[in-house]
Amino acid sequence: MNEQSNLLTAASPDDIVARDKRYIWHPYTQHGTETDPLVVARAKGASLFDADGREILDMISSWWTCTHGHAHPKINAAIARQAETIEHVMFAGFTHAPAVDLAETLASLLPGDLNRVFYSDDGSTSVEVAIKIAYQSWINRGETRSTLIAFEGGYHGDTLGAMSVGCSSQMFGAFKDLMCDVRVVPFPATFDGDDAVDEREAAALSALEATLFECKDTIAAMIIEPMMQGSAGMRFCRPGFLARMVEMARAAGVLVIFDEVATGFGRTGRLFAMEHAGVTPDLVCLSKGLTGGYMPLAATVARDWLFDLFLGQDFDRALPHGHSFTANPLACSAALAALGLYAEEQTMMRIVKINAAHRTMLDVLAARTDVSRQRVLGPVLAFELNEGGAYQSEASRKLRAWYIANGFNIRPIGPTVYLMPPYCITDEELLRAYACMIEGLDRLASGSL
Ligand SMILES: *Cc1c(COP(=O)(O)O)cnc(C)c1O
Repeated sequence: MNEQSNLLTAASPDDIVARDKRYIWHPYTQHGTETDPLVVARAKGASLFDADGREILDMISSWWTCTHGHAHPKINAAIARQAETIEHVMFAGFTHAPAVDLAETLASLLPGDLNRVFYSDDGSTSVEVAIKIAYQSWINRGETRSTLIAFEGGYHGDTLGAMSVGCSSQMFGAFKDLMCDVRVVPFPATFDGDDAVDEREAAALSALEATLFECKDTIAAMIIEPMMQGSAGMRFCRPGFLARMVEMARAAGVLVIFDEVATGFGRTGRLFAMEHAGVTPDLVCLSKGLTGGYMPLAATVARDWLFDLFLGQDFDRALPHGHSFTANPLACSAALAALGLYAEEQTMMRIVKINAAHRTMLDVLAARTDVSRQRVLGPVLAFELNEGGAYQSEASRKLRAWYIANGFNIRPIGPTVYLMPPYCITDEELLRAYACMIEGLDRLASGSL
């Protein structure tokens, strides 16, 4: 206990940092080398502000969560209104309008019979739920299938099942003994001017075919981040590949899980990445942008026939899964308000404009000798540093620190530098971000970071 805790609002930034360093364990952070965290006092639109009012443009949408901008008045009002009526109630044996309205809305936005919404708390739990539904759906059909297929570089979260299907992401070596059985097939990542993508796709598809054949009758499901692997460094694939691999999994009787935790809600230029390929998975995982980036909420949406497999008179057939905060009404209200904004603010049109602005950077990047693999998908611009190094390498840490010091939250993933702004970003803000991004590269190249 800390007797200062009732003085929180009066604390100076230095005091907050000092107490942070004494009491907090941050995510994905080596506290032995990390510099002091930045104290954010408030946020508005695409901007974060520190205690002195210094602006930092949030060019990666706060780990891909923020869609319409920070502190949006309509989402703020929806949460405040909801708090006046019911803030939370357990979700077994009870229900409420925000949860039902949101489930109905998601079902109407998703294709086909993706109609059954299971709520959980974050991207990782939505993946756990999808894996458990897939696995148990086989048991309920009288079969045991416990192998999963995942893609090289795929990332699906940090809980044990989600880590297992992300085992090739280089993040989880320490935990490999705890993982379940996963077969990994290549992901044919592509970029602007890539002339070997046909071969890479053919190789990936034949590896998939071999795995489907070899593990026939033991594979429960295949999981993929459609169109864009986020955590692996914004690696894009082509829609034709996605369509073909879904077709192959279906032909082999394997369930298809799309992890749209990062790609959902406009991040690849469509509301859902699956729309690029016109395919419908059996299960889809949604989180990050679901609430506009306001709150931890996730949904695993299943096709009707999968839900039906869990019906019966025995509890044994039911899905034994749930969380204390399942379908939290505040979070569901935030999500409903955030989804309403796509029509009200013509968000998809705004994304088209961000995409066009990003495309003007492709030639600028192609002309440089220090970067490569420049690429744009929807509101995402990415490229690789040729001398990039590993996750949290010196070059990428220096760049990140310089960008923050100069007013931009641009946080490279290893050698990958990328921009994924909130959709409310203005053209003028984008131009400033490009200029800063390029100056950082120039300084890195000349050794003056
Ligand atoms: C971020 C992410 C997750 C994990 O979500 P959390 O909310 O961090 O648990 C899962 N899958 C993908 C594709 C992600 O980008």
